[in-house]
Amino acid sequence: MRAVRRFTVRASLPESLSGLGALATNLRWTWHPPTRDLFASMDAELFDAVRDPLRMLTALPPSRLDELAVDDDFLGRARAAAEDLENYLSEPRWYQQRDDADLPPAVAYFSMEFGVTEALPNYSGGLGVLAGDHLKAASDLGVPMVGVGLLYRNGYFRQSLSLDGWQVEHYPVIDPNAFPLELLTVGGRPVLIGVAMPGGRELCAQIWQARVGRVPLLLLDTDTEANDDDLRGVTDRLYGGDADHRLRQEILAGIGGFRAVRKYCEITGHPQPMVFHTNEGHAGFLGLERAREIVQADGLAFDEAMPAVRAGTLFTTHTPVSAGIDRFPVDLVQRYFADGRLVPDIDPRRVLALGAEDNPGLFNMAHMGLRLAQRANGVSQLHGRVTRKMFSRLWPGFDHDEVPISSVTNGVHGPTWVARELSTLLGREWGLDTGDGPLRDGVSDAQLWGLRRELREKLVFEVRRRVRAAWLQRGASPLELGWVDSVFDPDVLTVGFARRVPTYKRLTLMLRDPERLRTLLLDEDRPIQVVVAGKSHPADENGKQLIQQIVRFVDGADVRHRIVFLPDYGMSMARYLYRGCDVWLNNPVRPLEACGTSGMKSALNGGLNLSIRDGWWDECYDGSNGWAIPTADGVTDPLRRDDLEAAALYELLGQQIAPLFYDRSPDGVPTGWLSMVWHTLETLGPRVQASRMVREYVDNGYLPASRMVAAATGDGYRGALSLADYRTKLEVSWPRLRIFDSELLVEATEPLVVGTEVTIRARIDLAGLDPSEVDIQAVVGQVGDDDELRDTVTVPMTADGIGAFAARLKLPRPGSIGYTVRVLPKHGLLAAPAELARVVLA
Ligand SMILES: *Cc1c(COP(=O)(O)O)cnc(C)c1O
Repeated sequence: MRAVRRFTVRASLPESLSGLGALATNLRWTWHPPTRDLFASMDAELFDAVRDPLRMLTALPPSRLDELAVDDDFLGRARAAAEDLENYLSEPRWYQQRDDADLPPAVAYFSMEFGVTEALPNYSGGLGVLAGDHLKAASDLGVPMVGVGLLYRNGYFRQSLSLDGWQVEHYPVIDPNAFPLELLTVGGRPVLIGVAMPGGRELCAQIWQARVGRVPLLLLDTDTEANDDDLRGVTDRLYGGDADHRLRQEILAGIGGFRAVRKYCEITGHPQPMVFHTNEGHAGFLGLERAREIVQADGLAFDEAMPAVRAGTLFTTHTPVSAGIDRFPVDLVQRYFADGRLVPDIDPRRVLALGAEDNPGLFNMAHMGLRLAQRANGVSQLHGRVTRKMFSRLWPGFDHDEVPISSVTNGVHGPTWVARELSTLLGREWGLDTGDGPLRDGVSDAQLWGLRRELREKLVFEVRRRVRAAWLQRGASPLELGWVDSVFDPDVLTVGFARRVPTYKRLTLMLRDPERLRTLLLDEDRPIQVVVAGKSHPADENGKQLIQQIVRFVDGADVRHRIVFLPDYGMSMARYLYRGCDVWLNNPVRPLEACGTSGMKSALNGGLNLSIRDGWWDECYDGSNGWAIPTADGVTDPLRRDDLEAAALYELLGQQIAPLFYDRSPDGVPTGWLSMVWHTLETLGPRVQASRMVREYVDNGYLPASRMVAAATGDGYRGALSLADYRTKLEVSWPRLRIFDSELLVEATEPLVVGTEVTIRARIDLAGLDPSEVDIQAVVGQVGDDDELRDTVTVPMTADGIGAFAARLKLPRPGSIGYTVRVLPKHGLLAAPAELARVVLA
C-alpha cells in the first residue's frame, strides 16, 4: 500500500534535554565537529547511519532518551554545547569589530539553490554548494545575512544506473517537517506571501526557515492548501519543467522572495536588508519589487526609484557562454506582467525593456540583472575578463576592460570541507582564519603522509561500499561481487574527477585513447586509480551517453579494480573524494569553466590539482602547487583539441605525476610530492576560503553599495532624484555633445622621448552641460596597426579658454603612441565611468 500523504512527528524531548533541539535544528553542526560528537555519543552506530542530529532525535528509542535525561555527564556536555552555540550566535565577530559606520544592517542573498548539507537536499551542484558556503562563511564572519530561495518538494534527482550504464533518475519526496526547517508562523498560522498570476489568480507560498549558524535561510514553498492544484506544483523541482514553469519559479524567487524577507524582518525584528545580492540572474525580478515599494511608499516615479534600486543591488554571474544565459520568450514574460497586478504601478513596458537583448523575441535575465544592479561580477579573474567581453555590447564605445563588471573569485567553506583529522594535525581552525605562523611547525613529512594515507584509505572503503551498492542496484547478486573487496588500493596514486556532465566539462576526455589510460591504470610499478562521478541533467541525452561510455569502460573486468564510476554524486560522497584523492583532475574546454570549486576543496585537504588553466586555476596555478594541462587554445576542430589535450594529460600523469608520487625516501615518504602538498596548503589554503570571498564582497560590494544606498535615499531621495534628473538632461544633451579640433602640442624642439611634456587640447561643445557635470579625459597609449589604444594612461582635461579643454602630461611610453579625447558622464551616484554606457569620443 502506498501512503496518500505523509507527515513526520518530531520527538518530544524530556525537559532536561530540550537544549538539544536548538543544536539539532541549527545547521552549524554541519561544520562544527564537537556538536556532531555530542549527538554521536547518544548512539554512535545510529548516528553513523542517520548522520543528522534531527533524525537522530526522532530515531532514538524513547528509553534511550530517558536514560540520557538523567545522565549527568551527558547533560553537562549538552549544556556546554548549547552555551557554545549561544555564544557563537551572539558574540561580536569580524563584521561587528569593523569600525565602518556605514556597513549595511543586513544583506539579503538570493539563490535558486542552496547546498548547505546533504541533510537538506535543495541543490543540484556547484552553484548551490557555493551559496551554502557563502552563508556559512557569512555566519562565521558575523555578516548579517538572510538567504532567500525556494524549497523543492522533490529536490534534485538521485542518480542510479541501469545494467547497461544508462542514468536513471528518481525524485525523493521531501517532507519539510522531517528536515531542519521551521515554518514561519504568526499566532500559530503559517505566514503566506502572494504574487499575482495572470487571470486574477494568486500564487501563495509559505516560508520555511533553516538556521545556518547566524544566518536565517528562507525557503518559499507553494505546496500549501491556499493554492490551486497547478500552482501548488510551482516549487516541485529544481530546474525541472518548461519555460513557463521556470518563469513562475523565478518570479516567485525574486518578487516573492523579496516580500518574504520584508515579512520575516517585520515579524522577527531582524534588521531589514539594505543590500540585495543575487547569485546568478534567476531572482533578478526582485529589483522590480524594490522599485514598486519605493514608487508606492514614497511617491517616486520609476526612473527616480531606479538609482536607489540599482545602488543596493549586486549581481553575480556564473555563465561564461552566451548560450548558458537564462532567457524567456518575451510573450511569456508579457503574459505575467501585462495586467499590472504582479508589480502594481510599474509599467509592463519598462519591465520588458529591462530584459531586452539582440533577439527581440527574448527576455534576457542576465541583461535585466545588469540593468538592475549597480555592481556586477564574475567569479574568477579569467571569468571576469570573459564576461566583460561577452556583455561589452551593452557598453558601446568602451574598451572591454572598462565594462563595469568586476570579479570576485569564489571560495569554499574550510570547516565544511576539510578533514577534521587535518585541522587537528595542523593545530588550527582551517577555516575562518588559517592561523598565523608557518603551517609546518612541529609537523613532520611522515605525519602528513600518514594522514594522507589514512584519508585515501577511508576513500577506498567508501568506494567499495558504493561500488557494491551500485552493482546490487543494477541487479547483480552478492555472490558475483567478491571482486569488489579488491577494488582500489590505499597505497595507489588516486585521481578524482567528479562534476556535472555538461559537454564542456569533458567527462570522457580521459577515454580519448583508452589504451593509454589502461596502461596508466595497470602499470606494474606505478599504477594509478581513478574515481569518477557526476550527474547529467535529466533532459541532456548527450550527457547520459558520456556517462554510459565511462561506465562501459569501468565495467571492464581488466580495469574495474582501478577505475570506478560512483552514481549519485552529491555532498556526502564529495567529501570523501576531496579528502582522499591525491590528484584532482579538471579538464574543461577553456574558458568555459567560470570558476570551479571542487579543486579548491581538494587543495584544502592537501590534494594537488591537475587542471586546464581555466576558472580559478588560471590565477592560482604557480608551477609548484599542481599541474596545468596545456590548452590547445585556438585549435578550432574540437576533436583535434581533445586529442591534443588528452595526450598532454596522459603525458603528465605518466611522466611527471606518477614518478613523483612513487619516488620515496628510505623511510617510504615521497618527499618531493609532500613539498608540493605543503606548498599547496600554505599558499592556496588562505586564498581558496569562502571567508576570503565573503570579505571581498563586504569590502568591494556590500559596503560601497550601502554607502550608495544611503546617498541615493537620504534626505528624501535627494541623490536618486538628482541622478534621475541628470539622466534626463543627458537624454537631451548627449546626442549633441561634440569634440572638435583635438591636437597635441609640443613645446620642446628636441625629438620626443619618454617624459617629454606635451599638451593635449580640444574644443568641446558640451551642449548645455556644465563642465562640472562631465569628465573630460585625454587618453594616451600605444597603438598598433589597428589604431587601437593599448596600455593607456588617462589624464583629466580642464578648462583652457572658452569652449576649450586641455591636459598636460609627460609621454608615458616609447614607441608608436596615439591619443584620443573623450567625454563621460559624471555624477556622485555613479560607481563606474562606463556605468551609463555613454561616451563621446573625438
Ligand atoms: C563543490 C561541489 C561542486 C562544484 O564543483 P565544480 O568544481 O564547480 O564542478 C559540485 N557538487 C558538489 C557536491 C560540490 O561539493
